[in-house]
Amino acid sequence: MKLYYKLALINSFTRILIVAGFLIFLPNIIYQAAVKHIDSRLEKKEGKMLRLIHNKTMGEFIAEGTDSTKADSAFSDYTVFKENFVSIEAVKQGEEEGDTIVTSPRDIDSVIVESRVLRHFFHYNNTSYLLEIGESMEYVKDLNVIMREISLYILIIIITLTVLIDLGITQYLLRPLRKIEAKLFATRRPEKFDYNPVITSTTDFRYLDNTISDMMHKIQSAFLIEKEFIANVSHELLTPVSILQTRLENMLATGTLSEEAEIKIIESQNTLGRLKQIIRSLLLISQIENNQAPKEDKVDLAELPKEVSAEIEERLTGKHITLETNPGESFILAPANRSLLFTMFFNLVNNAIKYNKPNGKISISCSKADGFYNVMVKDTGIGIAPENIKSIFYRFKKFNASGEESYGLGLPMVKTIAEFHNAEVKVESVVNEGSTFTVSFKLPGA
Ligand code: ADP
Repeated sequence: MKLYYKLALINSFTRILIVAGFLIFLPNIIYQAAVKHIDSRLEKKEGKMLRLIHNKTMGEFIAEGTDSTKADSAFSDYTVFKENFVSIEAVKQGEEEGDTIVTSPRDIDSVIVESRVLRHFFHYNNTSYLLEIGESMEYVKDLNVIMREISLYILIIIITLTVLIDLGITQYLLRPLRKIEAKLFATRRPEKFDYNPVITSTTDFRYLDNTISDMMHKIQSAFLIEKEFIANVSHELLTPVSILQTRLENMLATGTLSEEAEIKIIESQNTLGRLKQIIRSLLLISQIENNQAPKEDKVDLAELPKEVSAEIEERLTGKHITLETNPGESFILAPANRSLLFTMFFNLVNNAIKYNKPNGKISISCSKADGFYNVMVKDTGIGIAPENIKSIFYRFKKFNASGEESYGLGLPMVKTIAEFHNAEVKVESVVNEGSTFTVSFKLPGA
């Protein structure tokens, strides 16, 4: 998961937890507050009722009920909707209790109403009475349900808002990190790295950007030293190798050597020839990497496969391999280096022959797709193991003893030439079935 989404989710999660906790308890808090409010109303009503009793005398209230002389004499009154009620009833001596406020169901005119009831005992004319003042709890229960519903809606709205706001804020805060990331992705080579600092007020990002720039500088100078070293060594080696070759040729030309000595000299000449080929390949790679190769030609990429197959025909017949070319639509690449492009396709087709099976097939095809012009070299050869695919473009890496000359420099050269022409090389391979090498050139305007 991307850092941006992680931060937004973690931020939202903690906030949502707090809000959810609050909203879960909110209906309960409101319920308690409503009950407290009812209780205080009941207490006020109790005061008023007791004052009325004393002012009007108890007898009048009792007279509104039943006979005041009897111990079970009672008075009761309630509103039309049974929201409030008052009752006074005589109780036996010794049944009195302290004042209480309780929530209990009450039968009011044959209707059971959940009520909050204040109970107060008092004496009048040597009789004990119980005064009960009640209020219906139905509206508090309704309020509780409404509050739970509202809380749920609020929670959903808050979750959506916090996630969206956090995503926005995190995206804004992490903008410099994305710029650093984009700089790294856009860099194929350290010398192409954009050393302009990313503008940010976050010190961590500034530190990261500076560190990456420093590292790129170091890598770039290490690359330069390596390139210069290879170029110099290759150049310096070519002269003595050529001198040795000439000397050996001169020795052979004298005709005074024994047959055994001649064979040894010819073998040494072959070794020197291979050494020269390696040095030339290294020199060519380093020249291309140092941008010392010219790039002035216009090359029709659909024509190149035909030229390569004409050049390599002899090797094909020797190994009983058939080569099929499907040039397809033409594409003129300019500016380009014709001889380097020829070398690149030659190396790919040469490998397709080298690592093919007897009576195998090779096909070269050109096509345009998704903004790229693709040249594909496909063979029915031995294939490449998945674990080796990553390193086949490294210099001197070779995996198959094909019995033919192998220096591990053919594919590095292919890659360098492709990059010199802003193209990319991709490989797909299945062991024992074959390999497909695709060189993709970006189409103009794509
Ligand atoms: P070389 O062919 O001289 O060994 P390359 O750089 O051209 O060097 O290739 C490197 C390695 O990649 C080869 O040794 C071989 O193992 C593998 N390889 C290259 N092309 C193919 C192919 N078409 N089929 C199978 N293996 C291949």
